[in-house]
This record gives sequence, C-alpha cells and structure tokens, in this order.
Amino acid sequence: MLSTMQDVPLTVSRILRHGTTVHGRSRITTWTGNAEPQRRTFAEIGERTAQLAHALRDGLGIARDDRVATLMWNNAEHVEAYFAIPAMGSVLHTLNLRLPAEQLVWIVGHAADRAILVDGSLLPLLAPLLPRLDTVEHVVVVGPGDTSVLDGCRPAVHEYEALLAGRPTAYDWPELDERTAAAMCYTSGTTGDPKGVVYSHRSVYLHSMQVNMGECMGLTDADTSLPVVPMFHVNAWGLPHAAFMTGVNLLMPDRFLQPAPLAEMIEAERPTHSAAVPTIWQGLLAELAERPRDISSLRHVTIGGSACPPSLMRTFEERYGVRVVHAWGMTETSPLGTVGHPPGGLSGEDAWPYRVSQGRFPASVEARLIGPDGSEMPWDGKSAGELEVRGPWIAGAYYGGAGAEPIRPEDRFSPDGWLRTGDVGTVTPDGYLTLTDRAKDVIKSGGEWISSVELENHLMGHPAVAEAAVVAVPDEKWGERPLATVVLKEGAGKVSYEELRDFLADKVARWQLPERWTVIPAVPKTSVGKFDKKVLRARYAEGELDVTRL
Ligand code: ADP
Repeated sequence: MLSTMQDVPLTVSRILRHGTTVHGRSRITTWTGNAEPQRRTFAEIGERTAQLAHALRDGLGIARDDRVATLMWNNAEHVEAYFAIPAMGSVLHTLNLRLPAEQLVWIVGHAADRAILVDGSLLPLLAPLLPRLDTVEHVVVVGPGDTSVLDGCRPAVHEYEALLAGRPTAYDWPELDERTAAAMCYTSGTTGDPKGVVYSHRSVYLHSMQVNMGECMGLTDADTSLPVVPMFHVNAWGLPHAAFMTGVNLLMPDRFLQPAPLAEMIEAERPTHSAAVPTIWQGLLAELAERPRDISSLRHVTIGGSACPPSLMRTFEERYGVRVVHAWGMTETSPLGTVGHPPGGLSGEDAWPYRVSQGRFPASVEARLIGPDGSEMPWDGKSAGELEVRGPWIAGAYYGGAGAEPIRPEDRFSPDGWLRTGDVGTVTPDGYLTLTDRAKDVIKSGGEWISSVELENHLMGHPAVAEAAVVAVPDEKWGERPLATVVLKEGAGKVSYEELRDFLADKVARWQLPERWTVIPAVPKTSVGKFDKKVLRARYAEGELDVTRL
C-alpha cells in the first residue's frame, strides 16, 4: 500500500528559497583583511544567486548537468555559486586549490568542467594550468586580481560582477528529480587517481537537516558560524547548505586562514561556532598563548577530518571555555558520519570518554565493523574491525566520467553495497565509534596491531610536544615497529627521548612503546591540513630522518 503523503523532491532550490525569504535577514560576512568586511544578507544573496544562474545559462550557455567548477576560498560569492549552480540543474564542482597541478588538471578533465569560477587572488594558480584544461570554455574571475595572466588564453574570460550586472534578480528554478547530481567533490587521492563523489539534491538536503540537529551542530539564526574548513573540503562539512535551512549567519574567512587573522576576526565579529581540522586549532592555541585575544563569543567548535588530540579539547575548554565537539567523516559520507556528544545525563569526567571518541552514529548512518577474517565484529567497545557504513548521504559508487558507468572498486564498496571506509576502530554497545587508525597507517607489530593515533594523542599531551606523528617502519624482528616523529614546542627546552618514552610507559602496553625517535621541524600536511604520513614514511625510507634508537 502506498502512503497518502505528498511526494515533494528534496532539492537545493528549496533550501535556497527558504533561506533567502524566511531567513532573508541573516547575513554572510566575508573577511577582507585590513578593509571593512563585506556584508550581505541572505535576501541579497538570493537575488545575486538568481543573477548568477541567468548569467551562466544565458551568458555562458551552461545547460542542465553541465559541470561548473569553483576554485575559490570561503566567501559570499562561493556561497552564491553553491546555490545557483545546483538549483539551475547544473553540477557544482569544488576544486581543492591545494592539490598538485597535475591532479587538478586530471580532475577538471575527468569531470569535464565547462566553466571555472575563480577568485582573482587565485589566478596565478589557475593561469598556468589553463592550456591543459581542454574542456573549459569560460573562466569567470571573482573579485580583484591580476587578469593580465590570462592574456591570450583560449577560454573566454569574464568578470563576475560585470557578468551579473543588470540580470533579473529572480529565477524560475526548475523542479528537479531529487536524485540528480547537485555537486561533486574529488577525494584527495592519497593513492591512485582521485575519485569523484557526486552528491544528489536529496543527499545534500537530508545531510543539511542532520547538520542542524541538536545532536550534531545544532545551530540556529541566533548563531554565527565561522567555517574555517574550506568549501572545497567536502562542502565545508555541509555548513553553507545547512545555514540556509535555519538562518545561521556565516562569517567567511576568505583566504585569511592563518592563526593571527583568525583570532582577529573571531574577536571582531564574535562567531558562536566554528569548524576546522585539528591543525588549525593547534595553530590558534599557540597564537592565543602569544597574543591573547577575546574569543569568548565561541560556544562550541566542531573538530574533525583527523583525530582530535584530547589534550587540545581540554585546553580549549579549560582555558577559553570553548566546547570542542569531535566528529568523523569523509568525502564519501558528505561528510557527516559521527559526532561526539555524550549520552544524555553525563557531564564532566564521566562524559569525557565519549567526547574523545569519534562520536555516535546518527539514525541515517548505519554502521558495521568487519574483522580481519571478513566476519562482522560485535559492538563491544573492544573488538576492532574496518568500519563500513551505508545511508542516504553515503556514496554508493564513484563518478566514472562523462557517459561512463559509475565505478565501485572492491576495496571501497562491499558486494552488498556498503562503503568500506578504510578506517579501523571499535564501536561501543551504544554506538560510539573510536577509530584506532586508518587501515594503511596501522602498525602491524608481530601479529598485533599498534594504534598510531593512540601514541600520537598521548605524546601530544606532553607539555613540550607541539605535534607528534607515529608511522610504521619495517623491522627485522617484528615486521613493523612505530617510529615517533616529534615537533617540540618553541622554547620548550630540552627533552630527551627517554623522557618521552617514559611519559608513554603508563599509558600504553610496554610492547607498543616506540624505540625509534626523531625530532622534526614540522609534520608534513596534506592538502586539507592532515598529517601526511606517506611523506614521513618516504623520508624515513630515503634515510632523510635522523633517527635515534633507544
Ligand atoms: P582524504 O582521506 O583524502 O583526506 P577525506 O577528507 O574524505 O579525504 O578524509 C576522510 C578520512 O579522514 C577518514 O576516512 C578518516 O581516516 C579521517 N578522519 C576524518 N575525521 C576523523 C576523526 N575525527 N578522527 C580520525 N580520523 C578522521
């Protein structure tokens, strides 16, 4: 028997219409460095979004399903692109501006992007690639920049404001099938070619509702959120879309992502929430220690993308009264997978074990753990396995390219359709996930697994340690053993490897203690600011690290 309910497609244009009318007074503020910030209401954004859609369709001839790329920082114009492109039935493709040139060229070609919206400040990055971006017919330059670098290039060049000027401020958004593509994002591709994940209107809509739930970020129009996480990093974790559902004001950092300007904009614009990877917060803590600022407006921050050291969570809370909420996700999960709010009724130290975990699965994310022998492991908080997930905002395949079938690599998708996350961990009976490692980072020592993340978290709790990354290195006797690479805090004075090892001794099993140690100036980072352990392993293999063996 069928229901009697209306069948209304869940589309991005619905979010846009709601945000720009019901929440028309909410604002996007874009930081501009030394000048007065740029401020726009959601109502104004709505009009400009319509103008952009007209410009893309009538001016540039962008049609349904055409891919339009953005090479942009977090700013109001990027939000306009976020809504205009999917709402008109085309596909938004956010480009990660920190990827190596080769990968960007490959990704643009694979997605067959017809147009690129680029921030003027990023033209020096785009211009040298253009001769190889064969599918690109139009470049739209947003904001000031030296356009002379585009002289003589093949695609037509347009200026964003000029392209929008005079166009109608309303658009008759098409009624789309909710399963059609809204946006796409390529994974950073630590191995092999990058993989394209294509989000549907439905997945974006449902994911945005989840982001707004109290058990997730729980924001309202009384909040101002500062998404430091780039809009090219899994849709800024869903914040721009979610904001238009509930009227959350946005403070956009544009290209000012260094600790000093971040501290300055927090003090000046008083956001109540922010979201970023742990390395950003480590940087901000160091900045605040040196140059104190008023960050008291921040009520909570969402940290994810890589494991958040518990010491970082405690410092933020104890020193600044900011509640850190840990979350896990990936490009393939839109990205919201788990969020670390403790169970109701628990607070203080009792809540702590839950808060430092990666968090709890929401109703729409089903999870299972698959052990080394392929069998499903129990949710007992002890048995470890690879995490597999499924749900309405979880990828079921990767983009295969124009006209090609989607691809489902065996190592990423189980035969029964679950996403294999490549993350290894445990789940408690009440659904809290603790990741011990990425499958490829686990240290396999004499048939036992050592969690690199656990060692790192403990090491980063030492007062002299700024950062620590632990990687597996080959060992004659045990197969693999941990190598601890440590970045010392400035002015921390001398600390011996023996002291660091002893510091770990009462925290992990004896046989897990690293015997190989090295101090490095900084941990290499990936394009989205995560520890790049691949680089560390390669440096070790090349003999570039000065390793002491205890
Ligand atoms: P990439 O793997 O290319 O960096 P993603 O940004 O999608 O692309 O990264 C997803 C991965 O990041 C997850 O599979 C997981 O390994 C890691 N990750 C994300 N959040 C967390 C977290 N809170 N704790 C530990 N690891 C995390």
